[in-house]
Amino acid sequence: MTSAAARHWADEIADAVLQRQAHHVISTGITPSGEFHVGHLREVLTAEAVYRALKERGVSCRFHYVADSMDPLRHVYPFLDPARYREAVGKPLCDIPCPCDGHPSYAEHYLEPFLQAVQKLGITLEVLRADALYRQGKLDAQILTALQHTQTIKRILHEETGREVAEDWSPFTPLCAACGRLTTTRVTGFDVAAKTVSYACRCGHRDTAPVSQAGKLTWRVDWPARWQALGVTIEPFGKDHASRGGSYDTGQRIVREVFGGEPPYPIPYEWIALAGQGDMSSSKGNLISIFNLTQTVPPEVVRYMIFRVRPMRHLVFDPGLPLLNLVDEYDNLQGSQRNARAAELARLDGTPPLGFPFKHLVTLVQLTGGDADKITAILKRQRLPVPPRQVLESRIAYARHWLAHFCPPQLRVELQDTLPPAVAQLSPSQRQALGELAQRLQPEMDGDAIHALVYTLAQACGLPAKELFAAIYLAFLGQPQGPRAGWFLSSLDFDFVRRRLQEAAQGQGEAA
Ligand SMILES: [Zn+2]
Ligand SMILES: [Zn+2]
Repeated sequence: MTSAAARHWADEIADAVLQRQAHHVISTGITPSGEFHVGHLREVLTAEAVYRALKERGVSCRFHYVADSMDPLRHVYPFLDPARYREAVGKPLCDIPCPCDGHPSYAEHYLEPFLQAVQKLGITLEVLRADALYRQGKLDAQILTALQHTQTIKRILHEETGREVAEDWSPFTPLCAACGRLTTTRVTGFDVAAKTVSYACRCGHRDTAPVSQAGKLTWRVDWPARWQALGVTIEPFGKDHASRGGSYDTGQRIVREVFGGEPPYPIPYEWIALAGQGDMSSSKGNLISIFNLTQTVPPEVVRYMIFRVRPMRHLVFDPGLPLLNLVDEYDNLQGSQRNARAAELARLDGTPPLGFPFKHLVTLVQLTGGDADKITAILKRQRLPVPPRQVLESRIAYARHWLAHFCPPQLRVELQDTLPPAVAQLSPSQRQALGELAQRLQPEMDGDAIHALVYTLAQACGLPAKELFAAIYLAFLGQPQGPRAGWFLSSLDFDFVRRRLQEAAQGQGEAA
């Protein structure tokens, strides 16, 4: 690998945009129409990596998140009460009541937990709301320009998408003052000098309103208008917008040919898929909320998960064992040069490394019920580093959450109080090896020493190591698989381990 190939993508982008100009505005935006999920993290975290790389270079840079709070409610989503929300379809999200009645609007209901999670992930961004941008008149100039150049925009849309644009198409969607909908109106005229738009609604209402209060631009015009109004120079967006004839293609031409601006440096990104269930999407219901993820692993690990993969590479999120491995990978930073840079960009002041595998902590939490004192005693016995109490307790909380929400059945560790009946299926050589292990085990052996001993004994008994490991798991857990055996056995009381091995070797419990 050449050193150029090993460069982190955020560094490549930072250097590329600095060829264009010295001051930057990175923009992101997601519609707050439902709970934000792990798939949504790619947008803000892709921007965060570039933002951090630019900050490191001493570049003056702003980081926006624009909540598309003026977007209408498209339909009654499965998670909404139909009786309550049927009549809200077509109204802006900022004007609809929230599902819990505890927030100023529907948009704020979903925005609040997202912004909390963003803060927890160490991202500092300026939150802008589309409804405020419109209603404060920040897009007035672009709205009037777009209305004056409706024919040019129609031509661009036709040329780029190949689709016919309806004769009465308008770049502006009025908001009906009577029924509150965006989806039932059409523009009937506008006055540039008076800065007003006239419209008619299917409900029968006709009106003339100041542009700032009259509605919103349609998506394909809204986006370039926002680039121009906010001076956006860099923007990550989902790959659907990046397709040929997609909204980035039309946006580029509209911002240049209609608004007289330049499009931002584009950073298209791929979706995040949930292992075994395809791309995460609200409509498929295969979501893991950002809140849920931030309860499961430290924020640095969430950042690292996104930073370590180039934006256009597919990312499969597996909350089972791979998520635990990711924590250990981040703690160790033993990845390639590129991963080391990803970890550096991911670092926050918060979480020091655990000092031993997080997977092992997950086992200890299961064996002790998450008791920090008992875990500390086991770590000392195992001669593993004992992290500061606060670090240990916060990692125990993450482990508990993972166990409660994401632990696959085969990784569950339930120590059996008595000899499990499953040992009846052990072969004579498996029993012989377990008996040898009971004899040769010493209290001072650590996990690695026990692990090595298991290999030696398996060989001596003419047994594939896998079969001896399975015998050990059956004897203690009643199932043929479990956590790394040496570390597992050294976590348990020595006398108990020896007695259980002897019982299993004889094929019966003490009471029998
Ligand atoms: Zn609410
Ligand atoms: Zn109406």
